[in-house]
This record gives sequence, structure tokens and C-alpha cells, in this order.
Amino acid sequence: MPFTTIGSVLAANLETNPDREALVYGDARLTYRQLGKHVDRLAEALTNLGIRKGDKIALDLPNWLEFVFAYFAILRLGAVIVLVNPRYREIELAHILRDSDAVAILLPTHFDDFDYLPMIQRLRPGLPELRHVIAVGEQKDIPTDAICFADLIASASGKPQREANIDPAQDLAFLMYTSGTTGKPKGAMITHANFVSTTLIAYEPFQVSRDDVFLVLVPVTHIIGLFCMNSAFFNHAKVILVDLFKAEPVLQIIEREKVTAQYAVPTVFALELANADKYDISSLRTGLIAGATVPAELLHRLIALNIQVHPQYGMTETSGGLTTTRVEDGLFERTQTVGRAMSGVQIKLVDDERRVVAEGQVGEIAVKSYGLMKGYYKQPEATAAAFDAEGWFYTGDLGCRDERGVIRIVGRKKDMIIRGGYNIYPREIEDLLFTCPGVLEAAIVGVPDSVLGEKTCACIRAQPDAHIGAAEIQDFCRGKLADYKVPDCVQFFDAFPQTPTGKIYKARLREAVAKTLAPN
Ligand code: AMP
Repeated sequence: MPFTTIGSVLAANLETNPDREALVYGDARLTYRQLGKHVDRLAEALTNLGIRKGDKIALDLPNWLEFVFAYFAILRLGAVIVLVNPRYREIELAHILRDSDAVAILLPTHFDDFDYLPMIQRLRPGLPELRHVIAVGEQKDIPTDAICFADLIASASGKPQREANIDPAQDLAFLMYTSGTTGKPKGAMITHANFVSTTLIAYEPFQVSRDDVFLVLVPVTHIIGLFCMNSAFFNHAKVILVDLFKAEPVLQIIEREKVTAQYAVPTVFALELANADKYDISSLRTGLIAGATVPAELLHRLIALNIQVHPQYGMTETSGGLTTTRVEDGLFERTQTVGRAMSGVQIKLVDDERRVVAEGQVGEIAVKSYGLMKGYYKQPEATAAAFDAEGWFYTGDLGCRDERGVIRIVGRKKDMIIRGGYNIYPREIEDLLFTCPGVLEAAIVGVPDSVLGEKTCACIRAQPDAHIGAAEIQDFCRGKLADYKVPDCVQFFDAFPQTPTGKIYKARLREAVAKTLAPN
């Protein structure tokens, strides 16, 4: 494995491709050379502020150019980026800043109808480690005890800054807080080598090159967005940054910029397809679809349009990809499975006592890989619970593997519903519901039931003009699934609660459903 720093990819581009376009955001377009200059200046300015190797710097920015400047500048100093999703608000932000010991934060003045500075001003007294607040926005909006990003860059002389002495295998590049759909977010400690090796291994099946145009619309503070951006830079290709996902404007961008590669969660692809008729998106040919269950029906529709996106399975703690499907795989593998282990990834499936289960049986997925984090920051107990003495990491995901090594994800350990003693994996029912006419999105949640322990509720987002009721949904499942898997009740939603990365927030959906159901 090439144990190198993340920053070396920028150096390589500056050497071989300085005048190729690197970044596009709205009307702004930057070559690699222009990107390099911004990074030099910011690295110098951060050094002048006293930032040193090992310091933790929170990056709480949307997919903006400033994120990319800061990303390379912070890493060049050997400092550690604490990725904060800009959707996080006071409670989440306070937890991450305190937990990570961040000495500085970069955040917007405004983004998507929210003012960030009053929030950080309220939190500051409780954060003695936090020395610098650096705001990206208009100078006039920035209080005197914060630093204006544009002024900071302007303060530098422009002298190129050398990379700190970094050991890629040991030194941290990121603290990535897990999405925390259960419990408080924990900081996964990711080294330079973790992320470089996973990026290189995981983009290989997409067959991308320097001529590809990558659409980065998943927040770059999440592993999928970051992986997409890095795949582009490793290929000397172009990145189109999008800071807010809305289907129609994004489709316009795909058409205008002739985007070829998109990495996103299934919901993004589903919403794009629902609006795609009016646009020419024929340039789109490859990418990643991951982060949550990929409905087989959605994948069939994408493949029919010759958009050869690949389901992969991975997680924050493993710096992304663990398994992948490939173009040469059959339709079954591509639509029903997450493919095979990527190179360098070892996988075993275990029961509750962590004993390996028989081939074909459902078990918890345990892994070893180049991308596997060092542990959870300052959480020895959580780390000890997730790893065993031999270094296997227990993912909490349930899957099964056939004799060819092909893996199917059946759900999360905590997601499994036990209804009257029968185990139900929501994914199976969700996959079926995606083929039901009129259904745009479907999620199955378990709700308490005094007789059965739990029962199932199908949460449905219907297609805009569909006239579909609960009875039709249940009738559709009857006969196609065992009777105990037919949803006990059905609820319709205009929108689902989402995690900041756009995954369905099942815990919140479950709460919403439980509230509306009368106690029995
Ligand atoms: P995160 O750390 O936010 O990327 O979330 C990782 C989790 O997303 C995994 O542990 C899985 O539960 C889920 N996940 C990722 N990829 C897939 C996939 N292709 N199919 C089903 N679930 C997935």
C-alpha cells in the first residue's frame, strides 16, 4: 500500500496538471495552480495563528471552495481535521468541539437560512480550548473576537509552505464523528494512510480517469463526500461542488458541466430520477451508490439508463469502502448484494458470541482493513467494545455471504425487528415496497406492541400524483412475503427525517410513528 500523506495528491497535481481545472463552485472556476496558491496562503496564515502538528481544527463548512483550501492547508501542517456537518446545531456542535479538544473552528457566517456566529458565541465560554473562530462570509457580519477568513488569507505573504513531518501510518488526518443514529457521536481516528489506501482501493471499480467530472454533493464532512472529492484529486480530475441538494438545480448542473461521476446515497439518485425527464444527463456514467440500503428497483432503473453506479458497503470507522460490486458482476449481484470484499479487506460473519456462522447464515459483519480507524478518540471503552484482541472490528451490520464470497446486507443489528418471535429484516420488505407502483421511498420501522413485542409499520413517501392507500400497500405485500412480514400498519409522509448526510433517520421515524399510534 502506498503509505503517503493526503496532501501529496495536491503536490502531484501541481507538478503534472497545474493548469487543468480542479474546482468549480457556482460561477467560480479554479485550476490546480490557483487552488495551490490559496492553500499556501492559508497554511502560512494558520501557522502564524500558532496552529501546529497534532492540533485539532474543526471544519464546519458546506461544500464550498474554502473547505477545500482549509482541508489541504490544515493537513499540510500535520494538524487534524475535525469534520463537522454544517447541519449540526448547538448540542451536536458543543459535544464535538468539547470531545475533540478543537483549538480552532472554521464555519460560515450564514448558510441555508442559519446564522452560525450567534451559536458559536453562545458556546465559546464553555470551550476553553477553542482559541480561534474563523468565519467565512462578509467582514461586516463578523464580531471582533472572530477572524474573517478572507482577511486571514490576505494576511499571508504567499510563501509556499512545506508539509510537516508526517508519519502517514500513525498520524491522524481526521476525527470523523459517526452519524450517531444511536447514542452520542464518537470521533473515529483516521490516519493519512487509512484514507489514502481506502480511496485508492475503493474507486478502482468505477474506472475513472483524469477526464471525469465528479459531482460532490454529499457533504464533504461525511466519508462519502470526502471520498468523492479525493477520488477526483487522485485522478487529476475535476470537482464540481454543490452545497445544497435540490433535484432540479443539480440536474441542471449535471447537464451544464457534463458530470460523469456521482457518489451519493440512494435517496439522491431516486430524487434525481424522479425529475430527470427534462434534462440531458446522458454524460453521467459511473459512481458510487452507498451509505444505506440500495433498493434493487432503483438500481435497475439506473442501469437501464446506462448509469453504471456501483453499490459498495462501508462506514466511517473503516474510512469508507469494504465491499464492492463491479461492472462485470451479474445483475443479481449488482442489484441484490454489495459484492465482494475489496482488496486488503478481510471479512467474517459472527453470531452474538462472536463465533463464525456457517456459510449462507446471517451474522454480524466483522472486518480488518487498511482503512480501519485507530479507535474512537478518548473512548477506550467504546473502542474495546468494537474491537477484539485480534484487531477485528465489529460493525453492528448484519449480512450473509455465499460460497462465492458475495455479501448481502440484511440490516443493522439494532434495526432488526422481532415480531412475535420472528426476526424481520426491514430491508427485505423495503426492497419489495420500492417495486410497488406509486411508492417513491419506503422505510420499515418496528413499534412496540403488547402482544407481539414489536410490530411493523411501513412508512411511505408516495410519488407526487399517486393515489395509493394503506390497504393497497398491504395487499401488494400479501402473497409475496410470509404473512408475518406484511406491514401491520402503514403511514404516509411528505418527507422523512434525515441524518445530516441524507440517510433516513430511522430512530426519529420510529418515534414519529410510535407517537401517532394509540397505546394498546
Ligand atoms: P456511515 O458511517 O455514516 O457511513 O454509516 C455506515 C453504515 O451505513 C453502515 O454501518 C451500514 O449500516 C450502512 N451502509 C453503508 N453502505 C451500505 C449499503 N451498501 N447497504 C446497506 N447499508 C449500508
